Amino acid sequence: MVKLILILGDQLCDGLSALEAADKSHDVVVMAEVVDETGYVPHHPKKIAFVLASMRKFAKRLRRDGWTVRYTQLDDDDNAGSIVGELMRAADELGVHDVIATEPGEWRLISALEDIPLEISILPDTRFIATHTEFEEWAEGRKELRMEWFYRDMRRKTGLLMDGDKPKGGKWNYDHDNRKAPPKEIDFSGPLRFEPDDEVSAVLDLVEQRFGQNFGDLRPFWFATDHEGAQQQVDHWIAGGLAQFGDYQDAMITDQPFLFHSVVSFYINVGLLDPLAVCRQVETAYRAGVAPLNAAEGFIRQIIGWREYMRGIYVLEGPDYTSRNALGHSRDLPAFFWGGETNMRCIEQAVGQTQEHAYAHHIQRLMVTGNFALIAGIDPRQVHEWYLAVYADAFEWVEAPNVIGMSQFADGGIVASKPYVSSGAYIDRMSNHCKSCSYSVKTKTGEGACPFNLLYWDFLIRHRARFGNNPRMGNMYRTWDRMAEDRRETVIAEAGALLEKLDAGEDI
Ligand SMILES: Cc1cc2nc3c(=O)[nH]c(=O)nc-3n(C[C@H](O)[C@H](O)[C@H](O)COP(=O)(O)OP(=O)(O)OC[C@H]3O[C@@H](n4cnc5c(N)ncnc54)[C@H](O)[C@@H]3O)c2cc1C
Ligand code: SF4
Repeated sequence: MVKLILILGDQLCDGLSALEAADKSHDVVVMAEVVDETGYVPHHPKKIAFVLASMRKFAKRLRRDGWTVRYTQLDDDDNAGSIVGELMRAADELGVHDVIATEPGEWRLISALEDIPLEISILPDTRFIATHTEFEEWAEGRKELRMEWFYRDMRRKTGLLMDGDKPKGGKWNYDHDNRKAPPKEIDFSGPLRFEPDDEVSAVLDLVEQRFGQNFGDLRPFWFATDHEGAQQQVDHWIAGGLAQFGDYQDAMITDQPFLFHSVVSFYINVGLLDPLAVCRQVETAYRAGVAPLNAAEGFIRQIIGWREYMRGIYVLEGPDYTSRNALGHSRDLPAFFWGGETNMRCIEQAVGQTQEHAYAHHIQRLMVTGNFALIAGIDPRQVHEWYLAVYADAFEWVEAPNVIGMSQFADGGIVASKPYVSSGAYIDRMSNHCKSCSYSVKTKTGEGACPFNLLYWDFLIRHRARFGNNPRMGNMYRTWDRMAEDRRETVIAEAGALLEKLDAGEDI
């Protein structure tokens, strides 16, 4: 019996469970570029182009490997506009009633597929290391779902960086070694740049025409769009960037968007790279002496620890997770998140390179844009939609726990044990941005005071009832209490004035 094999735009790998369960000799692969997927948020044009071009190349690869592929392009006349619509159209036209799919990442698509009036078999996504059941069992009965404990289980399960049942080097986590201030010079050229071929160029023209108004620069487009290119990026980064990845993981430098980061998240998230295979390659490089343990462990932890943990939280917490707002924040996202003017150098850098590359590294997302949104009290739903739109690697299952949970504390502390907030001092320590900023990071109040300095205290005071007894935040509140009263009044008054400027849409 012929079956339809659904492959989504973030499921582009040969070993996909739906393909493994299919019969190449008669089943039909269905792939579709649809407006529902290109438009549920105003995605960065680079992200749309990357996904569409990668889909087209993957379809070609499947055909070359002997599969029958029914592929719908975005501008095809009879495009039904949704994944379900395209499946129904294929089922009607081919007279087929059975579908095999690999579980989609997002609730939105899972529920759409579950409601489809066809016989559908939804298989687990085996690209993840932990199954849903494993995560649920791990979470069951725990008071706190700390990533570190889950990560250790994933180390044991994969055997990565293990000596028998002991962690390599005697410690599970080398994060303390991974917080060096920015280096004076960067001797790594950043990610490989791929020239668009004819197929990619055709997609770029389509995206320019349909999504040219979205926030973000489409060109120059430099991403790889197939497995081979993505693998070249991994090889290039392991040879030149991995050794210093650990030390400078949290550093930020003006006009240096990539530093020693791997720039592989979007390749992994759409299936062009297998996360476990990348980790094994990093372990091999460590064992060969290419990189120190803190670099290899730091990278592997991000993938088998944080990435897997975020997915587990997304599934565990259910579809309402993206609507959470534990701190009751309601301010609108300022225009400078969409490229409007700002005098804050750190924000201008993080947003500017997001606009250019659809990329920012973790600390920029967490401690610059995320930190600002949190201390300014921005509505987490708007923050979530912004992150979902602007990054090439943004898919809800990984974006939402990072934004709603880790960055905005909107889930009330499921992901983070305390809010990731800081004054300008942290940004000054980890970057060179403050040196060229119009504000002064050393100035706490008055003319030129860094907005992070004011809003940080304002946040802590606004939420004292919730965080005042948090043992990890005691020092912050003690510092505040030791401040002279008139100083405290000035901080609160100036923070209020700053927030009024934000609300009035004035540049800050
Ligand atoms: C507010 C916020 C939003 C984020 N949104 C996304 C998102 O939409 N998609 C996404 O893939 N990552 C997201 N992250 C995690 C992280 O910022 C990106 O994975 C990373 O910046 C990608 O760049 P890289 O490939 O150079 O990563 P590297 O710094 O080289 O890290 C290696 C890999 O580890 C994984 N990783 C690292 N941190 C995380 C994490 N916290 N969660 C999941 N995977 C992680 C990624 O696959 C990444 O490629 C977000 C983080 C924050 C704080
Ligand atoms: S002074 Fe403040 S606003 Fe300016 S770069 Fe430093 S932290 Fe950012």
